[in-house]
Amino acid sequence: VPHWQFWVLYHIGYYSGPWTNLWGGFISDLGLIGVIGVFATWYRKHNCHVKWCFRLHWRGVDGTSFVVCRHHHPENAPTHQDVLDAHKAAKETV
Ligand SMILES: [Zn+2]
Repeated sequence: VPHWQFWVLYHIGYYSGPWTNLWGGFISDLGLIGVIGVFATWYRKHNCHVKWCFRLHWRGVDGTSFVVCRHHHPENAPTHQDVLDAHKAAKETV
């Protein structure tokens, strides 16, 4: 049996045994709920603050506590030249 088929059969409880029953039962459900819970918590922290916007956030808005996606940021995303200028400025202050 190819490995992936074994994996599927194992997880639907095809192979019986005390460990399989335990893992195939509530522990796997608990694990799944845990993974979804962790993801939901992470997502709520990291998506755009604008209502009904589900994009992941890009960066904070200067002077506010808002963190929004690139689409909703009041300033345009930095250009290559902005990055070069910022890097040059940072080097000159050292
Ligand atoms: Zn947004």
